[in-house]
Amino acid sequence: MGISILRGSLALGHNGCMPELPEVAGLIGFLQTNLLGAMLTRMQVLSSAALKTADPSYADLQGLRLAAVTRHGKFVDMSLTALGSPDLHGAAAAAADTEAYGAAVAETEAHASTAADTEAHADWTPGPLHLIFHLAKAGWVRYFETPSNAVLHPGKGPIAARLTFDQDSAVRSLDLTEAGTRKSLAVYVVRSPSDVPGIAALGPDPLSADFGVPELAGILAAGSGQLKGLLRNQRVIAGIGNAYSDEILHAARLSPFAIARSLDEPAVRALYDAIGNVLGAAVKSAEGKPASALKDTKRASMRVHGRTGQACPVCGDEVREVSFADTSLQYCPTCQTGGKILADRRTSKFLK
Ligand SMILES: [Zn+2]
Repeated sequence: MGISILRGSLALGHNGCMPELPEVAGLIGFLQTNLLGAMLTRMQVLSSAALKTADPSYADLQGLRLAAVTRHGKFVDMSLTALGSPDLHGAAAAAADTEAYGAAVAETEAHASTAADTEAHADWTPGPLHLIFHLAKAGWVRYFETPSNAVLHPGKGPIAARLTFDQDSAVRSLDLTEAGTRKSLAVYVVRSPSDVPGIAALGPDPLSADFGVPELAGILAAGSGQLKGLLRNQRVIAGIGNAYSDEILHAARLSPFAIARSLDEPAVRALYDAIGNVLGAAVKSAEGKPASALKDTKRASMRVHGRTGQACPVCGDEVREVSFADTSLQYCPTCQTGGKILADRRTSKFLK
């Protein structure tokens, strides 16, 4: 009984389906391509537990246009704004493509932020609202170019929220979905991304230009725990989860249990390079893919994660696993631990 529950939860970790930085980046590109400039005509919340904020109301988003889609760690940030400002309206109408439209919106945002007395502009566009979501373990999106008219029933099925857009008079819809029974998909409607506690607490983005070897060295020196836990901690570094931390440690040839502050200089450099290479390659392969293909792309790219018992593609050794109560990690002994097999809770229990 206990084992089947354990295996059930492990399956989530094993197949590597939880979206991490590269899949979120790919998803953002997809949303930009398909929905930038579209008007959100309707938002339906099917899972009230998923919606974490009450003010502003999600109804306030209706009638606004999607001005930008960005990423904060693993959070997707859809910025929506009205077209009330004469500047923006003219610019948007004249904009032949969505890129110019985005630039026009950005410019108007800059205007709005410098206008201290918004009351002086009765018809001034209110600042943009942000629809932000975190897909958690089993969340994802479904995009429809020809949405169905089937009636949605709150609390039933995998759809947590449905967004309906008008894109040049064509109807498009985007469902935020979550499989499984442990619901942790989170949706926020805020005036500023920093109003989302998980975003306010995020550590640096590992792909940002400011994240260099010295920054990583500082993080490692301040860290008290093991590398695996540190890499997954969103407050320490943003965007890396269970799958890519396995892949990064394998590429860096470091044990998941190595103590962060004990790394010497070459090891810090190797870890830094592995973070950039693994995430960079994954972001590249996610680029231009439809949302529906991103999870398979991720799974296919894994060298050790989710590959227990298979041969390491670098050295041919057998990929091993360490299991925990609700997760597991994979590693290659030859590449990462000098051939040492790490103690596993389940196997050591069975051996007794
Ligand atoms: Zn190996």
